[in-house]
Amino acid sequence: MLKVKLKAGREKSVHRRHPWIFSGSILKVDEGIAPGETVDVTDSKGEVIARGAYSPKSQIRIRIWTWNLTESINSDFLKSRLEKAFAYRKQYLNLNQIDAYRLVYGEADGLPGFIVDRYDDVLVIQCTTWGAERWRDEFIDLLVQLTGIEKIVERSDVDIRELEGLPARSCVVKGYVIPGPITIRENDLRFLVDVLGGQKTGFYLDQRDNRAWLRKFVNRREVLDCFTYTGGFAISALVGGAKSVVAVDSSKDNLNLARENCKLNNISPDNVEWVVGDIFNYLRNLRDRDRKFDFIVLDPPKFAPTSKHVQKAARGYKDINLLGFKLLRPGGMLCTFSCSGGVGQELFQKIVVSAAIDAGVEARIINRFSQALDHPVGLSFPEGEYLKGLLLEVYEK
Ligand code: SAH
Repeated sequence: MLKVKLKAGREKSVHRRHPWIFSGSILKVDEGIAPGETVDVTDSKGEVIARGAYSPKSQIRIRIWTWNLTESINSDFLKSRLEKAFAYRKQYLNLNQIDAYRLVYGEADGLPGFIVDRYDDVLVIQCTTWGAERWRDEFIDLLVQLTGIEKIVERSDVDIRELEGLPARSCVVKGYVIPGPITIRENDLRFLVDVLGGQKTGFYLDQRDNRAWLRKFVNRREVLDCFTYTGGFAISALVGGAKSVVAVDSSKDNLNLARENCKLNNISPDNVEWVVGDIFNYLRNLRDRDRKFDFIVLDPPKFAPTSKHVQKAARGYKDINLLGFKLLRPGGMLCTFSCSGGVGQELFQKIVVSAAIDAGVEARIINRFSQALDHPVGLSFPEGEYLKGLLLEVYEK
């Protein structure tokens, strides 16, 4: 097998089971390694310490498949990793209550570069790296074989493919997938999901538990749901007994689907004030009109995909959180999230603290949020934890 040799000292992170090897750690690369090919990783003395997939262009040059050198990377390997991933979901998710969940979450399931989300009888896959691209066809065959699901959609249209030098791909891979949204079940709610055109793979599965949490706190409250997408939090708020809901998103299409989602849950869409607009402007507009709320959700898109964008992202988070605090009545609650990998829990909290100070409010933390457990986080791979949130109760100084 072709080899990649690390610089002295750079084997440490590999021994600590971090699955990424950056280009700067590499001393020597054997000639003729094809993109996505499996390579043996050696320390500076030439001793093999792991086996991974080679990405010729990305800064993350190797993603480790295994540290167990008796293991070959082949269809059997993928199969055993998939079986483990499925067993985990079967054990910990309440699959009588939900039919949409993440089946495979990359590194956390020992399958770097592969994401699989299940939406009822459709699987949506994402191959984000050369390693995943190399094994794509075998992987798809195994998915069909192991799940019995025959409808497969691919949404490999994420930015990080560009860093790998891979083109975007978005298509139906197998089976007949009816054009238009699929209906999924999330506990007692139903949602329409556009797997081919929607964001991510179609739905924010990672917020499932947090949507359920919110319902305990919104009874008889006036709720503002910012960045509502297809209405996940807005509908949860109505079901939780909210007195009124204003839901804002920059996309009219998203709000149209959100309206349909209301109907699907036997709620009249007229119970919600739908606003198409830019949050940064709209929140200012509300402030200028002195409009107040009891509960505000801020669930923006990823402002900082990587640590390079942190400063700009921090300004964005500060801005919306500051305005959010200002729009709350005393005793009100701010439910604020960040899904930016580049902004950690600690930094996010700091930003929110400074927003509260500038808004002149005091607050206490009622709950901390993370991603649902079908998006597990490997202890040696903290990068897998991207969603963080705070539920804050605001009181006057
Ligand atoms: N809360 C949602 C997910 C939000 S995703 C859920 O639980 O399903 C982020 C949403 O923000 C997207 O729908 C996107 O259209 C919207 N968006 C992005 N930038 C925006 C902006 N500046 N103003 C308003 N909406 C924006």
